[in-house]
Amino acid sequence: MSAGKTSFYEHNYQELETLLETHAINPKSASLLFRHHYKEKKLSPCEHHNLSKAARSYVAENFDFSLPEIDYVHESTDQTVKLLVKLKDDQKVECVLIPFQNKYTICLSTQVGCAMKCSFCFTGTQGLKRNLETSEIIGQFILAWNWLEKNRPDDHQLKNIVYMGQGEPLHNFSAVKKASEIFLDQHGMSLGIQKITVSTAGYLPGLKRWNEEMPGVNLALSLHSVIEEKRNKLIPINQRYSLQEVMDYIDTIPLARKQYVIYEYLLIKDFNDTEEDAHATGAFLKGRQAIINLIPFNPFPGSDFERSTDESILRFQKIIETYNLPALIRTTKGDDILAACGQLNTKSPGNNSKAVQ
Ligand code: SF4
Repeated sequence: MSAGKTSFYEHNYQELETLLETHAINPKSASLLFRHHYKEKKLSPCEHHNLSKAARSYVAENFDFSLPEIDYVHESTDQTVKLLVKLKDDQKVECVLIPFQNKYTICLSTQVGCAMKCSFCFTGTQGLKRNLETSEIIGQFILAWNWLEKNRPDDHQLKNIVYMGQGEPLHNFSAVKKASEIFLDQHGMSLGIQKITVSTAGYLPGLKRWNEEMPGVNLALSLHSVIEEKRNKLIPINQRYSLQEVMDYIDTIPLARKQYVIYEYLLIKDFNDTEEDAHATGAFLKGRQAIINLIPFNPFPGSDFERSTDESILRFQKIIETYNLPALIRTTKGDDILAACGQLNTKSPGNNSKAVQ
């Protein structure tokens, strides 16, 4: 970044307006800038005829528009795309584009590594290196949008955002909140609040703040077991904030009529995929506005766990359904490039890797 400049992508709309106003520039210029950089996703400076000369020079002198770089692109046979993104300090994170009916969901990283150290997770093996800045979260989206426009021009719509990449999003609360405000802002990308999902391992202080400050955003909880001893082994933060404590809080969050909390359940062979586990899970969630995503574990190099058999996965699903709960078996999109959940790690380019742009 150039000396004395801040990243344009660090500011939400209100902050940008205030900055402009403080420098005696018409604050309405903020709407032209948001439209240009977020709605139209242009990377070049805004030349709109309504943008005053003073506004243009202020922007040129004070804002930096540089983005992280795409280091590698890994394209899966199922059309999932994993982008390895290089940050300004050469750290790397990944974001994943998941196709669905000619549209894409983007899975964003929020930290370099992760402090939660979940035992099934490739990212967790790295420990936390640092939080991402807002501009680095926004940067993943803009890079991905431009990559799609260039490489898959017929189906480049990015319609949903999930914070499920590297890191515990609620452990980097401020940056994730501000990035979400930018995604939601009506002057720019104008995404609907229901198009954003934040996923947590159960980091309760962050969850409380999120509910208070970003009400209405979808929530996903990494469940993986309702038996506390097993969950302690999978998700160490459970020893600090027990599942029961987290669920007691989730139960107080008001949900719209058709809004559901997503419970992610990774199925690990002979560990949490037995009939007893399935019944315990069904009984625990029964009566809640819940969708259970069953995810067959995808082994990664060095992992102690194995994928459940197809038979066990189907049996688990059937048992959950007897409790009147929807249980979806999530196809493991991208598992040939290690882009499936809990497998993000910046060291593993797959066979389909290409140096880009
Ligand atoms: S599963 Fe999520 S919260 Fe757990 S270590 Fe991995 S990235 Fe962190």
